[in-house]
Amino acid sequence: MADSRISTDLDFARDAKQVGYLNVPNSTNESGWGTLMMPIAVVKHGSGPTILFTGGNHGDEYEGPVALMKLLRALEPAQVEGRVIVLPGLNMPALLAGQRLSPIDGMNMNRAFPGARGGTITAMIAHYIQTALLPLADVVCDIHSGGRSMTFLPAVVVHQLDDAALMRRTLDAAAIFGAPVALVLKELDSAGMLDTAAEDMGRLFISTELGGAGVLSPATVKIADLGVRNLLVHFGICEGPLVTRAEQGLAPTRMMAVPDGACYTAAAENGLYEPFLEVGEPVRTGQLLGQVHDIERPGEPPAEKRAQRDGLLVCRLGPGCVRRGDTIAVVAVDR
Ligand code: CA
Repeated sequence: MADSRISTDLDFARDAKQVGYLNVPNSTNESGWGTLMMPIAVVKHGSGPTILFTGGNHGDEYEGPVALMKLLRALEPAQVEGRVIVLPGLNMPALLAGQRLSPIDGMNMNRAFPGARGGTITAMIAHYIQTALLPLADVVCDIHSGGRSMTFLPAVVVHQLDDAALMRRTLDAAAIFGAPVALVLKELDSAGMLDTAAEDMGRLFISTELGGAGVLSPATVKIADLGVRNLLVHFGICEGPLVTRAEQGLAPTRMMAVPDGACYTAAAENGLYEPFLEVGEPVRTGQLLGQVHDIERPGEPPAEKRAQRDGLLVCRLGPGCVRRGDTIAVVAVDR
């Protein structure tokens, strides 16, 4: 097992269903020899592949934790050919606080990889995932949503990979998940992400952006529930049937890309953002996406925010309040 300060009673090699904890040292004023108990489950049977599901990477994104808690309660070894490892609350302190970042060390879990054995609590958890769990996994699915600050058209998210065969398998898995769109995303800042850590190890990695604005909806939870099930069937870990979009009377997953910085529109001013479009609506280059009102200068005209590309609006600012530098819109293009 990896050289980590985090311990667990779970035996990942055992054919069984085990639900337990990662014990993360967390000495505080209130609890000198205290431990953060991070839920984890492993269901193993037979010799198929290993899939690692994570939710709560950001603590204000709830579809992943909810879908994964339901999965770990339902899944039994007899239904599994391979191994399913489930971490419903990857940044547990952030999830408990309902915040994107850890309230303990202020860190973003998805910028903490590869982590550090002797680092702060977020770095310590990232290091455990990097050294103990990623090596076990053939497939990694990290379920995100937009968080409090963004709202997404529900999407599966993958990255452009150099390995053509892995890229093809990744796109196949993305289409199977069952979201309205699949985005091949150019990250604004990919250093330290779980995505990058898994991809660098050659793991098949898929992520999602399901809804957001810090709320759950029946539609986005359903996509998460069906998506994790469909992945288990697709990779031969569970028996079918696949629940395809066609069977639900829906159009196939639209394969799209966010290839460059022109897809992103940011605010250059503080104020109140008035969106003109909802996610899922088509946009033309130059079209008004919305406008920012300066509440301290109500007599001044609002700042107009325009699309820099033709495409589909897949993300917009979640709250009404906007600050200089916030991403207020993301436009995707067909692949
Ligand atoms: Ca996120």
